[in-house]
Amino acid sequence: MGELIRDKLPNALSYYESEGLALQGRGKWRTTACQFHGGRDSMRIHVERGAFICMSCGSKGGDLLAYHQAVHGLGFVDAAKALGAYQDDGKVHQGSNRPAPIPARVLLESVAHELVIASVVAADMVKGRAISPVDADRLLTAAGRIGYVAEVANAK
Ligand SMILES: [Zn+2]
Repeated sequence: MGELIRDKLPNALSYYESEGLALQGRGKWRTTACQFHGGRDSMRIHVERGAFICMSCGSKGGDLLAYHQAVHGLGFVDAAKALGAYQDDGKVHQGSNRPAPIPARVLLESVAHELVIASVVAADMVKGRAISPVDADRLLTAAGRIGYVAEVANAK
């Protein structure tokens, strides 16, 4: 069974621009043309959530996946695949908006940084010092990041 990987959805701003829309204004809601009824400046797009609503024809949706479905006449799964955010059989489909892979050097630097933090906290624990909740929290974050990098490295 496949599933949507929401983290893999493209950034809303770049997605809507890649759909050929010029987003006008500032702030979270931008103004653009409505592709559903043809209005030039009635569509409002939320640049963080990807939500859209037309003030004229009432077309709306909660995220850019809903937009992609509606404007291209696709089902949920096909839209998610097209956006590179659908996984089945452990494989993520490569959509046209798939983000570039993270360079190995950046991953290595990230792991090195997290390992320094983890080793400092671990040394305190070995010496029998109580570690603060902040340190414990930071250690979990470090473990999570190292785990993520290991996952990315193993996926290659
Ligand atoms: Zn409209």
